[in-house]
Amino acid sequence: MRVRVLSEVHDEEALRSVEEALREVYGEEVEVEFVERIVSEKFLNKDRGQYDAWRIVKEYSPTRRPDEYLLLVVEEDIYAAGLNYVFGLAWQGVSVISAHRLRQEFYGMPPDRKLFIERLRKEAVHEIGHLHGLTHCSNRKCVMAFSNWIGDTDYKSYMLCGQCRRRLERGSEI
Ligand SMILES: [Zn+2]
Ligand SMILES: [Zn+2]
Repeated sequence: MRVRVLSEVHDEEALRSVEEALREVYGEEVEVEFVERIVSEKFLNKDRGQYDAWRIVKEYSPTRRPDEYLLLVVEEDIYAAGLNYVFGLAWQGVSVISAHRLRQEFYGMPPDRKLFIERLRKEAVHEIGHLHGLTHCSNRKCVMAFSNWIGDTDYKSYMLCGQCRRRLERGSEI
């Protein structure tokens, strides 16, 4: 499968780094395209001030080509029912990640570009892992570990653990 990345975060360096990580972990062809806007205002939940991640992936689902996974990189804060917020979400070949909570400024800290890029890479590799059929991993260093808060994202690596790697390889043989 190819990965097509649509990003409304116009950060060449960060997206280049995401591209490299995806290629390294999954060995797939990756194509990055910058777009003006991904998230439509109709997905805004005005009470929460957040956008509905499910509706975003469902909206983009028909635009996905059968030989590709789609990764949407958005600026806005996103949520899924039952959760206060999500860093990302994946569903049937389409995934979305949000840069909103990945910057130190969001937490009232001084900017840290390197950390922002690392976080973006991890979230991208995580969601593409879901698209490959991987579920959450109990190894906290594994990129497939669930991030309850940003500290979990910082703790884990951008790589798959041995077990998830084997699962991925088995999956692709089917
Ligand atoms: Zn997940
Ligand atoms: Zn794992």
